[in-house]
Amino acid sequence: MSGNAMRLQAIRDVEAYVPPAVSFTDAETPGQIFGENVFSSVVMQKRLPKLVYKSVMATIEHGAMLDPLVADAVASAMKDWAMEKGASHYAHVFYPLTGLTAEKHDSFLEPVGDGTALAEFAGKTLVQGEPDASSFPNGGLRNTFEARGYTGWDVTSPAYVLENPNGNTLCIPTVFVSMTGEALDHKTPLLRSQQAMGEHAERILRLFGHVKPAKVVSFCGPEQEYFLVDRHFFLARPDLLNSGRTLFGAKPPKGQEFDDHYFGAIPERVLGFMMDTERELFKLGIPAKTRHNEVAPGQFEIAPMFERGNIAADHQQLLMTTFKTIAKKHGMECLFHEKPFQGVNGSGKHVNFSLGNNQLGSLLVPGDNPHDNAQFLVFCAAVIRAVHKYAGLLRASVASATNDHRLGANEAPPAIISIFLGDQLADVFEQLAEGPATSSKDKGTMVIGVDTLPQLPTDPGDRNRTSPFAFTGNRFEFRAPGSMQTVSGPMVTINTIMAESLDYIATDLEAAVAAGTDFDTSVQALLTQIITEHGAVVFNGDGYSDAWPIEAEKRGLANLRTTLDALPELITEPALELFEKYRVFNHREMHSRYEIGLEQYALTIGVEARLSLEIATTQILPAAVRYQTEVAVNVGALKAAGVEADTAPLLAVSGPLSELRATLAALKAALEGGSGHSALDEAEHARDALLPAMAAVRTAADALEGIVADDLWPLPTYQEMLFIL
Ligand code: ADP
Ligand code: MG
Repeated sequence: MSGNAMRLQAIRDVEAYVPPAVSFTDAETPGQIFGENVFSSVVMQKRLPKLVYKSVMATIEHGAMLDPLVADAVASAMKDWAMEKGASHYAHVFYPLTGLTAEKHDSFLEPVGDGTALAEFAGKTLVQGEPDASSFPNGGLRNTFEARGYTGWDVTSPAYVLENPNGNTLCIPTVFVSMTGEALDHKTPLLRSQQAMGEHAERILRLFGHVKPAKVVSFCGPEQEYFLVDRHFFLARPDLLNSGRTLFGAKPPKGQEFDDHYFGAIPERVLGFMMDTERELFKLGIPAKTRHNEVAPGQFEIAPMFERGNIAADHQQLLMTTFKTIAKKHGMECLFHEKPFQGVNGSGKHVNFSLGNNQLGSLLVPGDNPHDNAQFLVFCAAVIRAVHKYAGLLRASVASATNDHRLGANEAPPAIISIFLGDQLADVFEQLAEGPATSSKDKGTMVIGVDTLPQLPTDPGDRNRTSPFAFTGNRFEFRAPGSMQTVSGPMVTINTIMAESLDYIATDLEAAVAAGTDFDTSVQALLTQIITEHGAVVFNGDGYSDAWPIEAEKRGLANLRTTLDALPELITEPALELFEKYRVFNHREMHSRYEIGLEQYALTIGVEARLSLEIATTQILPAAVRYQTEVAVNVGALKAAGVEADTAPLLAVSGPLSELRATLAALKAALEGGSGHSALDEAEHARDALLPAMAAVRTAADALEGIVADDLWPLPTYQEMLFIL
């Protein structure tokens, strides 16, 4: 199909669009279907003997070991429940370091001697699986002779039944480790880091008089941005299909400059898609909450309600898979790439982070009395210290070839990690830097004693969209993560650096209490010390301004612009020690993550470079040559007829065409050029040779798009992809 034919087909589709009957009916309210396909604690309570149920809940809530007999009972109940829901297979779902979701399916049926089959699912099978680990990235953690990997059920994340027109599957969220117990996935470190952070947070709560605090966990509410494009266009763009982003495409006459899309009316077709996805998410117990248009045309956002970190991470992966599937059903493709369209806003995944427990809720909420406020400020101070001290690790946790197109550019927070506190909280900390704070900006309340801490209103409500790490009333919002990445990476880092900060604070305060120092005085002194040492990371101004990088440099804040600047942060001595101390990663695991980061970077850019070469050689160049011939024939014919011919169009196409030929030759040479042996060599070659060569090809090709006749142009244009929905 030529560009024109595809465009017409897409327009016909949009015109003929009838919203599918997916909205909730009276008989099926969101409340009724919510969690329908989840083996939740409610289902377990109904189906398990009382003691078994209690034992599982103890494992979920307090991290007690799962007894093998209990596992058998749970497995059997789970199998019966899943088979009643039409499941014939079960799958251990895990999250390898590709950032994708992997699953290995097995049938419930086991052959028995007489040639028939019996539905079996033992506790052992529930708790442990053995997929071959050799096809997943491991960064040198594994030799081929020990290719086995193990998956183990994350008891705190419930199993669920995934529906499919061809049969349902019981899915069990699992960790994925090597034979030697090293993490090959994103979930294992997430659970480890959550544990570490919780432990030290509980020490602080005890100091504040909570005698037996409930288990503290991290909470995460991920906001997911994405694009939708009509599938006719998607399928006609080998670049989108294979690399998730357009490697060619001239800027459309109308872009996002009217700001007419953000929070605008959602197109009918997209609304149908959203309702359909939400229905599926509800069944899986995923609390989809808000939905709206985003800044760019064709761009949207979904934000589920926050949940316990590891569950939010599982749900986030499931959400992405669901979106992909349902978009197809609606004749669209869902793009999660951070920058599908050059010159148009990219997509992020804001990670809203807080910590807390079921007794106290979020510990990042200001209290309504001085005592609670002191506790709140201590937790905030822990965040400030952690983000300042380990800014490089936070930056590394969002580093990827794809996110490089977005971070540090003019739409997302810069690559400099800083914290936004809001006027009010910043004011309190400024006062603390000079000694005990006595007043709060809004209320001006003076209080005495611990009491020298001001009263704070619960929702300061201000927003700063330019900050990578912003306090938003009851949580911190990390805005740098990319739309495609799993939230586990950033969450692991936040949890671990928080564990270290909370450990530091708890140790200091415990010592003060032991020495008989007045607790309130110690808290005051500690807050003053932390803000004095780490206040440089607090920045309430415009993060997009030209002045900020200069100011940040004066403050000693790093500006790690690209992935290759950021990844080495993972293997600095302090980083290795940090992760080892809190038993999140050993040195080998850290080195493996670093290697995988490099490999993924080089692979991503390598694929793009080859695609770029292929598309330009087999589609763009021939189109331009055809057009050149057409114009040349026209000029020749006119001249032969003795009519004066305008040769300007011929010259116009010939210039960029020779430019395209030259840049293509250079790209080809760069691809053939040896890149060295180590993962770092490959990655540097990708950055220094491939990226610039691709950019040059694109410039020539995009210039041709504005010259060559529209009916000859082989690729759907930005205008079509962004505006026909
Ligand atoms: P905004 O546009 O103000 O950022 P959204 O409603 O789009 O707000 O998204 C806010 C996200 O933050 C949601 O996912 C929400 O569940 C999450 N969130 C709210 N409170 C907390 C909290 N205490 N801890 C973690 N996440 C939270
Ligand atoms: Mg937000």
